Amino acid sequence: MQRLLKAYPDFLDSADRNNLYWKDGTVMVYDDGITDKTHDEKLEDPDLEDMLSQEYTAGPDWSEPPAENFEPGRIRYEPFFLKMYGNSSGEVSQHLESITWVDGSELAFSNVNGAADKLRLVIKELNELPSEYQKYLKNPGGTFVWRNIAGTDRLSNHSFGTALDINTKYSDYWKWNKNLKYVNRIPIEIVEIFEKYGFIWGGKWYHYDTMHFEFRPELITSVP
Ligand SMILES: [Zn+2]
Repeated sequence: MQRLLKAYPDFLDSADRNNLYWKDGTVMVYDDGITDKTHDEKLEDPDLEDMLSQEYTAGPDWSEPPAENFEPGRIRYEPFFLKMYGNSSGEVSQHLESITWVDGSELAFSNVNGAADKLRLVIKELNELPSEYQKYLKNPGGTFVWRNIAGTDRLSNHSFGTALDINTKYSDYWKWNKNLKYVNRIPIEIVEIFEKYGFIWGGKWYHYDTMHFEFRPELITSVP
């Protein structure tokens, strides 16, 4: 829970053995005590402990391809994000800022938890990459859409205005591949810039989504 407190100081006050205390007085239970959940059950009905149960490895030295069902960040305790970013499309929209992406297009991103400012720092560094990297970034797939993850009743993090898809043309997604064999074409240099500012990459998931970056500072230990 220390990771959560450090990552989200605007909202969280403190924690004790099994409770997370919000500044507005809300108390969230950390561990629901259910110890025999399958991976699918953790995705469907997680608690905060399940959400943090897999360790995200930032940088180039990660275990590629990901082990079966190893996908830190894909398990999300939805009430936690709804409470911070907004409970509806309208509420989330009130916190969106327009940000100029590397190709000059405008993207909407949440300013809650400083996410929009962190994305601006990402863009500044992406702009400094050699020109051969730009093709992966231009024509971005998008940011804010209030929607469920395809084929589920769980909200995508795109609903909160804290996720960004880069160019789908050079991206790979597990559902596009019948046998789930891991494929990636996105250079690690791009990934490292996002990670430096608290974004995780869907390319490090067993159910991979290599266009997808998501602001999840609780999963990245060293955020400047
Ligand atoms: Zn995405």
